[in-house]
Formats: sequence, C-alpha cells, structure tokens
Amino acid sequence: MNYTTRQIAEITGSQLIGDENLHLKNIAYDSRTLFSVNDTAFLAINTSKNSGEKYIQSAIEKGIDIIISEHYYSDYKNITWIIVDNSIQFLQKIAKYHLKQFYLKTVGITGSNGKTIVKEWLYQSLFHDYATVKSPKSFNSQLGLPLSLLEINKKHQLGIFEVGISKHAEMKILEDIFPPQIGVLTHIGSAHSSNFDSAEDLIDEKIRLFENSETIIFNGDNELVYNKITERYSSKKLISFGFKNRNKVFIKNDWKNRSQEVFIQYFEEEFSVPVNQRDEATISNVLCVISVLKEFGFDNSKIVEKLNSLKSVEMRLESVNGIRNNLIINDSFNLDLDSLKIAFQHINEYNKPNKVLILTDFVEGKNADQLYQEVAALTNEQHFKSVFLIGNEITKLERLFDAKTFTFSNTAELIDNVYLNQIENHLILLKGARKFEIDKVKSYLELQKHDTVLEVNLNSILHNINVHKALLKPETKMMAMVKAYSYGLGGYEIAEFLQHHHIDYLGVAYADEGVDLRKNGITTPIMVMNPEQHSYNIIIDYNLEPEIYSFRVLELFNEKLIQKGIQHRYPIHIKLETGMHRLGFKKDELSMLIEKLNSMNVKVKSIFSHLSSSDDDQEKEYTLAQIHIFNENSLALIQGINDQPIRHILNTSGIVNFSDYQFDMVRIGIGMVGVSAHPEIKKQLKSAVTFKTVISQISTVNKGESVGYNRKFKALENTNIATIPVGYADGIPRLVGNNAGFVGIRKNLFPIVGNVCMDMMMIDLGDFVAKEGEEVIIFNSSPSLEEFASYCKTISYEVLTSISRRVKRIYIKD
Ligand SMILES: *Cc1c(COP(=O)(O)O)cnc(C)c1O
Repeated sequence: MNYTTRQIAEITGSQLIGDENLHLKNIAYDSRTLFSVNDTAFLAINTSKNSGEKYIQSAIEKGIDIIISEHYYSDYKNITWIIVDNSIQFLQKIAKYHLKQFYLKTVGITGSNGKTIVKEWLYQSLFHDYATVKSPKSFNSQLGLPLSLLEINKKHQLGIFEVGISKHAEMKILEDIFPPQIGVLTHIGSAHSSNFDSAEDLIDEKIRLFENSETIIFNGDNELVYNKITERYSSKKLISFGFKNRNKVFIKNDWKNRSQEVFIQYFEEEFSVPVNQRDEATISNVLCVISVLKEFGFDNSKIVEKLNSLKSVEMRLESVNGIRNNLIINDSFNLDLDSLKIAFQHINEYNKPNKVLILTDFVEGKNADQLYQEVAALTNEQHFKSVFLIGNEITKLERLFDAKTFTFSNTAELIDNVYLNQIENHLILLKGARKFEIDKVKSYLELQKHDTVLEVNLNSILHNINVHKALLKPETKMMAMVKAYSYGLGGYEIAEFLQHHHIDYLGVAYADEGVDLRKNGITTPIMVMNPEQHSYNIIIDYNLEPEIYSFRVLELFNEKLIQKGIQHRYPIHIKLETGMHRLGFKKDELSMLIEKLNSMNVKVKSIFSHLSSSDDDQEKEYTLAQIHIFNENSLALIQGINDQPIRHILNTSGIVNFSDYQFDMVRIGIGMVGVSAHPEIKKQLKSAVTFKTVISQISTVNKGESVGYNRKFKALENTNIATIPVGYADGIPRLVGNNAGFVGIRKNLFPIVGNVCMDMMMIDLGDFVAKEGEEVIIFNSSPSLEEFASYCKTISYEVLTSISRRVKRIYIKD
C-alpha cells in the first residue's frame, strides 16, 4: 500500500494530528519486531487482553514518527497521530478500501485444517502464470487477514488469502472486507471449539465466507457441510471434492496402494496424478488444489506438471545453538520478500546486538534489480555486522549492502570461508532458496550433532498458556514456573519466549537459575522459591525476589539488606502454610510476622500458598479448605501491613479445577507442556515436547538368541531388533526395559527389550519393516509423555526433569 496520512485519515474517518503528507507504506503493530521504520506507522492495537498503547514509546524510540492509536498522548515531539475509534476496525476499514482499488482475481480459503498448505501449494502452482499475492504464513485472523490484504499492489493479478475464525460472528466481518470470487473450504473436522455451540454452528459461520463468491470449491465428505452448501448456495457454481464418490471430484482407485498412481474422477473425466505421500490429509489437499487449477483452466498435463513440482510446506523457523556460542536461526524453506520480512521480525525478538545474515539469490525474482534494491534497503536497516551473499545474481549487487559483505557463488564455497569460521557470539540468520541447500551451513555451524533430541515447540507452549488463560478473568496475572531448567525443557530459551509474550512473572527454585536468566537478558520479575542463605547477595545483585517462608529467612534476608545498604524497600513474597505442610507461615505466626514486616525495609509484593491436591477429585474438600485458610490468613496479613500485595494459590490443575479462586495471579507449570489431568482440557492442549532419536542398527535375531546384558531377552522366534542410542544416562529409567515400556515408529509401538544400557537400548520390531536411520519417538504423541511416564511408574514432571543435559534441546517456532 501507499497512502498519505491525510488519505488514511479520510478513508477511515479518523482524526489526524500532525503532518498530512507523510507516506505510509507499512503498518507495524509489534514494537519488538519492528524491522523497518521508513514510511511505517505503528498501530497500537487494543484487545481485551492487552493495550498496544503501552508500546508507543518504544516504537517512537526505534524511529517511528506516525502513530495510529485510540488515544492521543501529547508528550511526544514531531509525531503525526491518527486517532481512531477502534484499532482493529481501523485496520479492517483500510484493508477493505485497499482491496477495492484493484482488479484482481481472488481466492479465499477457509476450513479447520489444511488452509496454509493449500494456500502455499496454490501459490506454488500459480505464481508463474499470475503475479500473485498471498497471506504471509498463516495470517488469517481479524488482524492477520487485513494485514495480508494490505500487501496487494497494482502489479498483482491474483490474491490467495486464508480466512480463519475462532469465534461466532467473525466471518461476517471478514467476508465484508474480503468477499472472494472463488471460495475454498478445505476440511472441517467434527470437533468444534467451545466458542461454538455445535459443529453445525461452526459450519454455518465458516461458509458465510462464500456469500458473494461465484464458485465454491469444497470438501464434500462431511455430511453437514455438503448439505448446507448445496442448499444455501444452490445458485452458485459448486465443486465438491473428497473421498466419497458423491463428490464431483473424487478418487477412483485404492489410493493407499503405492504401486499405483492416484486415479481421479473429475466430473465426467478421469485422469491419473502423481502423489507420493499417501495420507488422507495430503490426498485431500491435492484434490483441492486440482479442483482449483481446473477452475483456472489448466489442462491435465499442466496440472500433473504442477503437482510434480510442489514442495512440502515447511513453515517453521528453527533456532539451534551453534558452535562458538552462536545462535543459528534457520529459515531456509523459501525465499521471497515476505518471508525475508518475517525472518527479520523474528530475529528482532532475540535482542542480540551482533547479527550476521547469510542470504542467497531469490529464485523467483522477475524484476531482479528492483527486488534486490528492496532487499538491500531492508537488510541495511537491520544493522548486520556482516552479510554473506550466495549466488550469481545477488552478488552482483554487493555494493548495495552497507554491512561488511562477502560473496560466494555457491554454498560449499561459503563453508570453506575463513570469516564464516571466525564468527563468534553472533546470531546467524540463514535465509536461502531451496536449491542452494543452505541447510548444509546449518549442519556445519551447529553445536554437536546428535540424533537424540528433545524438541520443544514454543508455539504449543503459547497455545497451552492461552488455553489456561481462557479459563481466567482477563485481568488475572500469570506466573510461569520455569524452575528446574523449565521442567527440563531449557533455561533462558523458554523464559525469553514467555517474556516476549508478556508473562507477568517467572518462578524459579534457586537463585542461580534466576541469575542465569538475568544474564541472558530476562527482565521480567523473577520469584525465587528456595532462597538459600548463601545466595542472598546474588539475589539482591540480580534483582530477584525471594520467597519468605519463615522468620529465620526473613531475618537473615533483612540483615543482608541492611549490610548491603539497600535503600529502597526490597520486593519479597510471603508464603503461607495452608495444608501442604512443606514451607510457610501459619495462622498463629501472623501477628508477629506483621510486626516484623512493618519494621523492615521490605515490600510485600505477593502472598501465596500452594495446593497439595488440586488435580485430585477425591481431595476436593481438602483443597477448598486450603483455599479458605489462604483467603482468611492472607486477608489478615494484608490488613496489618502497609502494602497492597497480590495473592495467588492456583497451579496448573488449580486453574482448571478451581478457577473460582484465581485471586490476582496463578502459577502455571506442567500445563505449558501440554499435560492435564482433566480430559476436556487435555484435548485442547498441544504436546509441546518431543523426545526422539533414530535407529542406529537393525539386526535379525534368531529364535533362542539373546539380546543385551545378562541375556534378559531371548527370542521365542526369529525377529528384528533395532538398537537406538538412548539409555539410562539420557534419563530413561532402567525399569522400562524388559517389555515394560514402548517407543513409537510411524505411530506403531514397539517394546523395549532386554536391559536398558547406559547409552543404548534395544527394541523388538517383530516383522515390522523399519529402516536404519529412521526416526524413533520416545514420547510425544505415540507414546505420549503421560504414557511414557506410566511405563516409568512415575509422573510427567519426573520424566521431563530426568532427561539429562547431554540430550540436545531444539526449539521450534511455527
Ligand atoms: C512448580 C510449582 C507450581 C506449578 O505447578 P504445576 O502443577 O506444574 O502447574 C506452582 N506453584 C509452586 C509453588 C510450584 O513450586
């Protein structure tokens, strides 16, 4: 887009204060990921959860001079303001207007699953024939769709956008902004979220997107979907696809049989197409793509050609620790201007001053010079220490890049380069088109390569937090318990992510855990639950907040404050004993506690207690009694002191089972990982950790032969034994050996046989055909963490915290 500030104000009926002739090409809404300030406005978005206006200052500090906000703040100089009634509606109005300025063909994709894959595949299939704009990543919400639409410019002939809703009445708004000519409905599952009354309700809402479409291409396997669309939209061109043969487009043969091509019935016509991956979701997405391509008038041979060149849609950015203390961000699936912008936003989240960029030719660039000029301008704004360019095109324009620049014709040359091999303490962003195989740079720079990894999906953690937040009042604060190396998942990586997403508090067990976080740039308040007496110095030096659970701790800590000459009232947290019988003050100690607190230079930030049995239905009475004691004693304490501390008692299962007693804050732990004792909640959570390895060797063991130490397994018949490189030194308890536990290969479970060794264990494949090097899941979905914990006769908490440090942690963001 490109509008003046005056135009923007006029189009949206907003008030303009300041310069009316500034150009506005981008709208940014997250001050932390701001990667470019030229011709960019900062939009302060207010939602029920958060106010973007808090970040206006930081956007201005980064150089933004146009602010769009619901409120005007007069304290800033030389800023142009656009004052709007409602920040999200503003964005929607401007997007609606913007779309109307162009004559382009539009495809709108909705559904429960497959939206992003179908969008990316359609894009891959069509961009050679049409200048195409698409939603970046899976931007499809009330916010994401308008932002995507603003990417349209006059060059574009086709727009493919995802449209997603999570609540009632949202589609009407989105359809009003974006009524697609061709509507696509991928797949609707039978599950519906609690925001909808029923599956029917959800379907009614989703198909509203097609109110003004000419053609609807939809998955017709779901009975309700099929009936509703054919009734409500009988006057439109309808193309249903799916596995059932009542659809206009369906599969004729047994598609599971890999020795055959997939035969498709398309209306009266029949033809075969290549599909390598044979799972239902993939086949259904392929049918969808074929139906759309047919609608665009491509002939069958062209369609086959396009299907053959589809690439898997890998949309995740991967961050791994590199050698020489570098952090590697690998985003080398595709390379276009949009994905480069997203990557730049992403690396800004890390707050690392020293950054290096490795960038290749853009393969699809039509107008190369102009494209690379834009690329260089954007890159220059990121202040990389050095830039490594690979390819024959981009290297010609080396002069456009401000940073120290190195050029190479291919990836192998880069790997040999001395400068690359000297980078230390940097964030290294890898951004390359597929054919350059820039992954090799990643493998080369990566810290020790291990086949056994614990993969942590940060987006799932955020999702799980939000599932729990939805059970709480919007104003209730949340403390994330990141003790014990974040339940074994990692140290600052998790905390940094949580901080980025505005967690209110972090909780650690020991002072040195908190110090580690501070040293890695974590500024969120941190509570230390076991402030050992030798650690008071560093607690104070690193601005950590101790839990005070006894008079002894209180007095010793106060002495340290005096000794260090601390002037301000130091923040502390008071732990009350309410029934756990572990740590804390009891009722009869309160008056003395009040007296002491009032005489000391401390500020009580919070009062809290811990539930012993919040996950246990049998102990409901006891939990309620604990909450009652907590309420009374904390009130008594508050009455006696001069502070207004917040109160908190609920842990994860407390949030789920006793949300009426959320007080001012809750403390989430295991729930972030995706574990819940509550079946309904469990269904909504995503498993955030995968412990996996690969098969080292497969050997045939004949009847009567034995496996492992002390010959504990003896083959009753000939069988195949796979050896995998994890053992008790990695945190797998020995008691899962000898058929007590199972691991997963392609969702099939196989018993662990014989004794578990220190670094290895053996599994019995029977006659299942697996390959050496193939992935083995120790836990994630099959078996799940909870199942694995049951093999170990323990709880998920212990399984996670037992995984030894030598297992490499990898962090994934979708
Ligand atoms: C660990 C811990 C929690 C979190 O417990 P979960 O069951 O993992 O949610 C909450 N409060 C305190 C005091 C804790 O030690």
